[in-house]
Amino acid sequence: VFQLSLPLNFLGSVYREMNQAVIDMDMLFNLEKVRPAIADGPNKLDLKGGSIRFNQVNFGYVKERPILRDLSFEIPPGSRVAFVGPSGCGKSTILRLLFRFYDPKTGNIEIDGQPLSQLQLESLRQSIGVVPQDMPLFNASVFQNIMYGNTSATPAEVYAAAQKANIHQTIQQWPQGYNTQVGERGLMISGGEKQRIALARALLKQPPILLFDEGTSALDVATEQSILSNIRRVLNQQQCTAIFIAHRLRTIMDVDVIYVLKDGQVVEHGTHAQLLQENGVYRNMWNLQEAQFSGHHHHK
Ligand code: ATP
Repeated sequence: VFQLSLPLNFLGSVYREMNQAVIDMDMLFNLEKVRPAIADGPNKLDLKGGSIRFNQVNFGYVKERPILRDLSFEIPPGSRVAFVGPSGCGKSTILRLLFRFYDPKTGNIEIDGQPLSQLQLESLRQSIGVVPQDMPLFNASVFQNIMYGNTSATPAEVYAAAQKANIHQTIQQWPQGYNTQVGERGLMISGGEKQRIALARALLKQPPILLFDEGTSALDVATEQSILSNIRRVLNQQQCTAIFIAHRLRTIMDVDVIYVLKDGQVVEHGTHAQLLQENGVYRNMWNLQEAQFSGHHHHK
């Protein structure tokens, strides 16, 4: 419905009517324009701490091809977890179901004990902040780009979110400060700065659940390290549940639980150290990536 190349006046009259979460997720997941209608639920999400539970969830986009099969897991409030697995195993699908862009065929999903199908979509989606690694910015000021996370935020709240995301000082050093135009037609900013702006945008919602989508394109090691330390710092200050969708295992080594998906099921889960000992799928992925990683550095 909404294109990435939004017209400059997109911040005008339609601004408040747009469903922010839908747009984020459209960008993030390249969702198709036509989705089956999802019926809005009656209740506002009564947040307790951001626990997430999948109960024997079965899902596929087309009948012939199941993507998630009897998938069950429980993420306690305030914990940090990661989903890993081969390309196409269903990692992003889990996030799409969590946002209720689709409903499970069977089974159910709960946040803080409340079935998603009973929740008002808006209250559900407002509770989840998404931080894609490579989110395109809009052709607008950096202020508007951050404010987009919560259109009713005050300027003070925008600055506070930028401070938390460690981008406030950088912005202030730009000649035009918060009025600096970013996006395709604006200032060229680094991948790390972009990611901080995306983080500030997500933090502005003060969401109890934060999703980090790593993306497949590799950043240089220094940028990746600075992004990771920034995320870690934010998570240490923030009481929230954090979910990482990871491609490079090095970036999620320190989470509480890693879920390894294969053929639509969790085949292994545990900490990085535990999974290495299991000598299974994770250990294999790790060895492969480490071999590539050291090979890569060797040639430089
Ligand atoms: P990657 O690591 O490559 O991002 P992923 O684990 O996140 O992959 P998903 O995006 O969840 O994988 O997709 C799971 C499977 O579902 C893939 O095989 C994908 O091609 C398929 N799929 C995704 N979206 C649709 C759709 N709208 N219609 C049909 N099939 C789809």
